Amino acid sequence: MPDVTPAAVPAAADELSAALDRIKADHASANPFDVNANDPVPRLVAAVERVMDLHRGITDGDYPESLPVCEEDGEWAPCPTVRAITAALTGKEVQQ
Ligand SMILES: [Zn+2]
Repeated sequence: MPDVTPAAVPAAADELSAALDRIKADHASANPFDVNANDPVPRLVAAVERVMDLHRGITDGDYPESLPVCEEDGEWAPCPTVRAITAALTGKEVQQ
């Protein structure tokens, strides 16, 4: 079994969510009056958020104390997809 602690998963999700929030805030402050339908940043953020929604960690309802696994691929959470995105956005490697 991978070295996973239940607290590590929410921390990874929180860190990635915070990184996305910073990107959105930085983009909004840099472009306060520029609403551009062709702006790629909001679409890229939305794409990452949709991927993250697919790859969220869940626990078995029969064993609520069990460690979470990815709903999409069944890997221990955070799964390789979430870890790769988190590393790309935060520059930090997330432990599984
Ligand atoms: Zn996954």
